[in-house]
Amino acid sequence: MILRDLGEFNLIDRIKKDISKSSSVIKGIGDDTAVLRYKKGKFLLFTIDMLIEGRHFTKKLDPYLVGKKALSVSISDIASMGGIPTNFLVSLGVKSGLDVKYIDRLYRGMKDVAKRFNINLVGGDTVKSEKIIIDIALLGEVKKKDLTLRSNAKDKDLIFLTGDIGGSIKNKHFNFTPRIKEAQFLVKNFKISSMIDVSDGLSQDLGHILKASSVGGVIHEEKIPLSKDARDFNSSLSDGEDFELVFTLPKKEGLRLMKIWPFKTRLSNIGEITSSNKGIMLVLKDGKISKLKVKGYTHF
Ligand code: ADP
Ligand code: MG
Repeated sequence: MILRDLGEFNLIDRIKKDISKSSSVIKGIGDDTAVLRYKKGKFLLFTIDMLIEGRHFTKKLDPYLVGKKALSVSISDIASMGGIPTNFLVSLGVKSGLDVKYIDRLYRGMKDVAKRFNINLVGGDTVKSEKIIIDIALLGEVKKKDLTLRSNAKDKDLIFLTGDIGGSIKNKHFNFTPRIKEAQFLVKNFKISSMIDVSDGLSQDLGHILKASSVGGVIHEEKIPLSKDARDFNSSLSDGEDFELVFTLPKKEGLRLMKIWPFKTRLSNIGEITSSNKGIMLVLKDGKISKLKVKGYTHF
């Protein structure tokens, strides 16, 4: 079998087989970051993301934005666990003919994001490569009581989304702010039952929550805010890289949240969890209900 027929998520399931896990692994493969035993009252978070020239960005794009994104995508994963980022390593692949100014700009982007979020660059690796590669491994930490996995959504919980979706088609995905502030507010003030960041499209990423939690969900077209740059509703559900948060919490808590949400960032109750275990049902503006065919970004 070739990879294209297997698909990204089946590949990950395959890799997951027969790996040993010592007691230091609280959560291994299958969430936005790994969760590891750490110190009293806290867990360590660990995540890695790679950007490759030609795949994620072109050589023409301002390297400042590439550097900024390379770190921001990992911060977004830490946010979705309820944690804060701390330290990162950068592996860099570059050609000998590359202008050093390009690399300066790339690191300027990373360093500015690092400064803003109080994160330290603590090492990395440099190799020769025909295509530019930036691979960032980021650590974070989370108070045990704040840890939010994909797997605890419960029947009748409300489903919320920060910001809007569909904007990645224009350059938003190179210029977004990871939702650390919002996620911290959520975990400090509410018992969030599940959370994920939207990197592969709302339908697919909400699908991950439902699958991990063994529940179903209903979402409503009229409640889902689209970016002014969005193409249309359907593609916005499956376009990746919104880097917003999708999360669930019990209804009573959800109603309290809507009253006290303090940020400019939009907050929308887009639907609710059901016990059906049958994926996502979509209620269209005209009232028609159908099962949503989950489409989103996968690599193969
Ligand atoms: P995200 O979009 O939140 O970054 P991914 O969909 O990339 O998450 O990954 C889902 C899970 O699979 C994560 O736990 C990730 O660490 C794991 N994973 C992805 N690729 C690999 C790989 N090549 N080997 C081992 N684990 C992987
Ligand atoms: Mg993620």
